[in-house]
Amino acid sequence: MSVLVFIETEEGKIKKSAREAISYGAALGDVTALALGTVSQDELATAGENGASKVLHVSDERLNASLIQPYAEAIAAAANATGSEIIVTAKSSLADAVVGRVAIKLGASLVSNVVALPDTSNGFQVKRSIYTGKAFANVNLTTDKKVLAIKKNAIEVKTDGAAASVEALSVTLDDSLFGATITSTEKAEGDVLLPEADIVVSGGRGLKGPENWGVIEDLAKTLGAATGCSKPVSDMDWRPHHEHVGQTGVKVSPTLYVAVGISGAIQHLAGVNSSKYIVVINKDEEAPFFKAADYGIVGDAFEVLPKLNEALKAA
Ligand code: FAD
Repeated sequence: MSVLVFIETEEGKIKKSAREAISYGAALGDVTALALGTVSQDELATAGENGASKVLHVSDERLNASLIQPYAEAIAAAANATGSEIIVTAKSSLADAVVGRVAIKLGASLVSNVVALPDTSNGFQVKRSIYTGKAFANVNLTTDKKVLAIKKNAIEVKTDGAAASVEALSVTLDDSLFGATITSTEKAEGDVLLPEADIVVSGGRGLKGPENWGVIEDLAKTLGAATGCSKPVSDMDWRPHHEHVGQTGVKVSPTLYVAVGISGAIQHLAGVNSSKYIVVINKDEEAPFFKAADYGIVGDAFEVLPKLNEALKAA
């Protein structure tokens, strides 16, 4: 089966979620990866470690900004050029906007939030996460072409492949596709952006006030993490609104989510249940968050965090 995997890059590096998508595709068939915009050949060749046999590169500089229409056009063109039956990508805010357009252009069926390899014993059935991870739906796809967007952290990254060959792909992208362009970008506060962070240290009302956030920021700095918070914390202006995690805030999918002084209300959990590992620090051993935790520390945040931080720095 011929599989095209669209890989997102960030600051010249292939995103971890894209490597998960390549690993997913490699379990289905022969993977050609597709990269858009400026990325080094050396970096693209590393897609082979995750299972891509070849990488097609559309190096058009206009694609350095993630633009929905030209991206959809380029992905569909690459799918046609390679005769791919399955088009895979990682689910992301960009992919959410692009994959529907790709599916329409290709006459393909589409499933997003995919969490497992398809069951092909009777057709082509994929499992997707629904209701913010509280339930799953099995979806049967009957079209020849299929577009799958894979949920972050659902697939182990394969790392035992050899370097992939990298080839330039020329795609005609009409100026009319660039009707909306990004003129400049600016980073929000903090070194690591929350939605894409691999590690998040988040604080709740248990931190008592904004003046105590130093313990969260110190731990985040040591771990190279983004900082997050619960909704009441941002409602009270202890922290900026863009740090608010949960059903009504940012949904994160880090490898590690550290929740400090957060009770674990269902609306908060809805934003973090795609995390690979959850560590909860709370002084109340009955706090509901412990039920969702992989590891828990029952203790006062103001005693635990400095000790944890020192231990991690020494490690
Ligand atoms: P609390 O519930 O007050 O919990 C504080 C925790 O800190 C407690 O468990 C306590 O034991 C612990 N603690 C106290 N002192 C210490 C200490 N010294 N050391 C360690 N632990 C300590 N919430 C969100 O977060 N995100 C959302 O997106 C969201 N959306 C919502 C949408 C709706 C429609 C509604 C109704 C609510 C929503 N909420 C959301 C609010 C949610 O229901 C909870 O009220 C909120 O998550 C609680 O925040 P918290 O855990 O910080 O505070």
